Amino acid sequence: MCDKEVILNNVDLFEELENVRQAQKDFFRSGATLIITKRIEKLKALKKTLVKYEQAIYAALKMDLNKPEQEAFLGEFMGTIHELDTGILKLKKWSRKKRVASPLMVFPSKAWTVPEPYGQVLIISPWNYPFDLCLSPLIGALAAGNTVIVKPSELTPNTSALIKKILAEVYEEAQVSVQLGGVELSQALLQGRYDYIFFTGSVEVGRIVMQAAAKHLTPVTLELGGKCPVIVGEQADVKQMAKSVAWGKYFNAGQSCVAPDYMLLPANLVDEFVKWFSHYTDAFIKNGLGEYTRIINQKHYERIEGYLKQGDIIYGGLCSKETLQIVPTLIRPESWECSLMQDEIFGPVLPIVTYQTLNEAIEFVKDREKPLVINIFSSDRKFIKQVSSQTSSGNVCINDVLLNYVNKNLPFGGVGNSGIGQYHGKASFETFSHTKSVHHKKTPDLPFRYPPYEKYYQLLRRFKKLLNKNI
Ligand code: NAD
Repeated sequence: MCDKEVILNNVDLFEELENVRQAQKDFFRSGATLIITKRIEKLKALKKTLVKYEQAIYAALKMDLNKPEQEAFLGEFMGTIHELDTGILKLKKWSRKKRVASPLMVFPSKAWTVPEPYGQVLIISPWNYPFDLCLSPLIGALAAGNTVIVKPSELTPNTSALIKKILAEVYEEAQVSVQLGGVELSQALLQGRYDYIFFTGSVEVGRIVMQAAAKHLTPVTLELGGKCPVIVGEQADVKQMAKSVAWGKYFNAGQSCVAPDYMLLPANLVDEFVKWFSHYTDAFIKNGLGEYTRIINQKHYERIEGYLKQGDIIYGGLCSKETLQIVPTLIRPESWECSLMQDEIFGPVLPIVTYQTLNEAIEFVKDREKPLVINIFSSDRKFIKQVSSQTSSGNVCINDVLLNYVNKNLPFGGVGNSGIGQYHGKASFETFSHTKSVHHKKTPDLPFRYPPYEKYYQLLRRFKKLLNKNI
């Protein structure tokens, strides 16, 4: 294709997207999304349709990622259904106005806050949990009464096409439009004007999204990644900890934004940790790798395989280029400067770093960008408190991994480089709603604030003195 054709195609694409945006703006302006009972009805219809397609969802995830059904159920389907159930049950309560007490200064009056939808939302999602990370924010945006353009990941074509099919069965395009395509489409979408942008993906693309949003002062949620440490205390149950961590690296082949990225262990616990990590990983893969998620593509496979050369492998290291699988691998990194210890691993490789004092471990974490989650393993409450109060991270998970994400009643999001904003359950509704403050003046109209000021000023001051002795 010559350059001219590309440009012409882009013009077509921009026009097409502009038409979708306009249709959604018109739909929103009609007030159709404001009726709460209608929103609930639609969420119920979406749940019914998801249940109808449950097996097709697992099949699509198997084709895209070789994701086993059990992982798809726990990591994608169940959470999405939970979001729907919560929205259906709580939407009326969340949508109510909340009374705010009014001070005497504004007597007589009433005040309250009320959530209102932003309008048109753009959601861009990644490939690692292609179903949940697309549907979960979408449910929040719809519960809050917005229209939505969604762009699922191009790297999971089967799941993304199925998402489009499912949503088209429930929502007209003027309310939910699923756009299928890659980076070029994403960039074309970002050139439009929205009332809110919700992005899940890498830090680099997060910056691009924020720049595009800044042009129109559009508010954003950025759900990004980073390196999530596991900090282990002397009092930890090492066997149980190793089992959780091995599972966190096996589940989705470590391709989770909340997966343990590296271990911070007291030196005397390393041998025991390696023993139990190996024991449990051997058990997980004893029936072969048929039930083990593959690395999403060749490029990521080569990136992760490259990490294996950046230190001494303690356990694992088995790779298959044909099936794009790498077994969970423990490694002692050659330095802190190598990409293994600088970049988000986002795969089943786990470097071990040892520490002498807790302070040293905390400083190691604080020297780096704020993580999405810090996993703390210990039975010592003082240790847990010290780590969580002296570090900053989007989330903390104590004596386990990943499950803080699975608990959809907990707001989820990053801080600093790991993201901006939160979602899940009520937090999603709040994210996609503007909280409008309302002041309602009542009668009688008191004369104190009107000029000429002299008349009531001293009286007002005396009155204020009676209420507040300090001024
Ligand atoms: P990515 O940033 O490459 O892609 C995410 C989305 O952005 C995709 O839909 C893609 O088409 C689009 N995109 C890619 N490049 C773009 C560009 N130059 N301009 C505009 N749009 C572009 O991320 P990914 O590889 O799909 O996902 C992995 C990353 O996502 C990891 O960093 C991971 O930590 C992060 N992640 C975060 C969370 C979270 O909840 N915080 C969840 C899952 C994944």
